[in-house]
Amino acid sequence: MITALPSIRDYEPIVGKDCIDELFYLAGRIQRRKIQHINSTPVGGGVAEILARMVPLIRELDLDASWDVIKGGDDFFAVTKEFHNALHGKTQLITEEMYDIYEHYTNLNLELTPLIGDVIFVHDPQPAGLIKAKLRDEDHRYWIWRCHIDVSNPDRQVWRFLKKYVERYDSAIFSMPSFAQVLSIPQFLIAPSIDPLSKKNIELSQEEIQGVLERFQIDPELPIVTQISRFDRFKDPIGVIEAYKIVSRHIDCQLVLAGGGASDDPEGAEVLSEVKAKSEGDKNIHIIELAPNSDFEINALQRASTVIIQKSLKEGFGLTVTEALWKGKPVVAGAAGGIVTQIENKITGMLVSSVEGAAYKIEYLLNNPDFAEQLGENGRQHVLHNFLITRHVRDHLLLLLYLDHLNETVVKI
Ligand code: UDP
Repeated sequence: MITALPSIRDYEPIVGKDCIDELFYLAGRIQRRKIQHINSTPVGGGVAEILARMVPLIRELDLDASWDVIKGGDDFFAVTKEFHNALHGKTQLITEEMYDIYEHYTNLNLELTPLIGDVIFVHDPQPAGLIKAKLRDEDHRYWIWRCHIDVSNPDRQVWRFLKKYVERYDSAIFSMPSFAQVLSIPQFLIAPSIDPLSKKNIELSQEEIQGVLERFQIDPELPIVTQISRFDRFKDPIGVIEAYKIVSRHIDCQLVLAGGGASDDPEGAEVLSEVKAKSEGDKNIHIIELAPNSDFEINALQRASTVIIQKSLKEGFGLTVTEALWKGKPVVAGAAGGIVTQIENKITGMLVSSVEGAAYKIEYLLNNPDFAEQLGENGRQHVLHNFLITRHVRDHLLLLLYLDHLNETVVKI
């Protein structure tokens, strides 16, 4: 699951030596040194993406970080996907049987998952029930529920069910203020990040990019509009096709919709077949089914694109937007979830809330390459200062330090 990494010092040319020195300084002062992360999928989606980079970096700072993935059958992931949709505010029919399935797998995972951390980060709703293992008063471990999704307007029934677990944690982390909830436990705000040195984000040569275009039979001479996403209704791939069809009446261009599945997302196949049906007959629409770990291909497709679209209707943070901005690309994205902290409209990208709006803004960017370039440059600077993994690691270290000094009013480190 964890691949060989560049050294943490390799980040110095990007973020500066002081930034990396500070990470070592902070890490050296942390007392709870066994950090465990638990989530529900080893690949696919933003959480796995972050953990694959964060865990090895924290280890390099000499902290004992580990990552475990819970187990679940198709029935479990079907239920948690319904929960996920409901927590994002979609009306879902949730039955008693679904809660029973969740409890069944929670109990199974309590037996299967070694709980070894001094600090245990449990990511998102799927493994949240593991908090049952917390022994009320005599538990010296510190349990944190890390919520990556937008629960600002959840289905009340599902949130009530989840909240009874969440409030047993010692604290919770949300990605942005509007995601936070009224809870009886302390809450922290930590924005996600991308790794500029990962295979997905590192600079590529023109030959490497061309090679990927050839492999997927994409014309390098024709403007390319791309959305990289799991095939998920909240990512609105159908809306993307509709927007492209409006644009293509006036401008000759291609649409690339590329994505794979995540093992905790059973809806993907159904959405993919709807997408294929909708795009039938247009040779300029490329539907690309990505295998897991297609980081190089995603990097090349993003870099080859004239415009990146991420027309999400609901979104957690939207790492695909961060990745595109980092590559200096003009991005057109749904004004949803964490996307609005990344894109300041007409400054670091374009925000949209309809098919027509998306079409208009794609067309505008294709017709105004200088403006598009300026947006891309602004976007890259915004990511450099706010959404790189080094900042994310620092936030985690500061949180861990805070835990060592819970009852002190003045903390000297
Ligand atoms: N991703 C991927 N393969 C895919 C689709 C997406 O590796 O087929 C990556 C994408 O590049 C990004 C992450 O998964 O790094 C998706 O994170 P995001 O926050 O955009 O959405 P999520 O899938 O978590 O809702």
